Amino acid sequence: MSPDCLFCRIIARQIPAKIEYEDDSVLIFNDINPQAPVHCLVIPKRHIAGTGELKQAGQDDQLAGDVLFKAAAFARSRGISDYRLVVNNGPKAGQTVFHLHVHLLGGRNMTWPPG
Ligand code: AMP
Ligand code: ZN
Repeated sequence: MSPDCLFCRIIARQIPAKIEYEDDSVLIFNDINPQAPVHCLVIPKRHIAGTGELKQAGQDDQLAGDVLFKAAAFARSRGISDYRLVVNNGPKAGQTVFHLHVHLLGGRNMTWPPG
């Protein structure tokens, strides 16, 4: 728990969110400013600022695997077969909340390249 972190505060239920799924390691909730009919954020419960802080060995392997695997499992459970997973790392890449999160976007056709 990082007390100044918005997403840690959502995990702690100090800030409300529309939570779609929770288990021991991840939380999935609706993005407050959806960019697609389905727009969820998949976050690890353990605070880490972004992919730039992931270390190769140890618990981070599990954390990184969990967010990706559970994003895919959640999409499958909702019958969403076509979706986009996005991770912004760093302000120039569009990261605004510095708690690692995977955007799960679906329910419409996507274009490429992203902006
Ligand atoms: P990023 O720009 O990749 O760091 O993504 C941060 C995302 O968090 C944005 O898509 C925001 O719309 C979303 N967001 C910010 N505040 C909240 C909140 N209180 N509840 C849910 N989503 C939020
Ligand atoms: Zn956090």
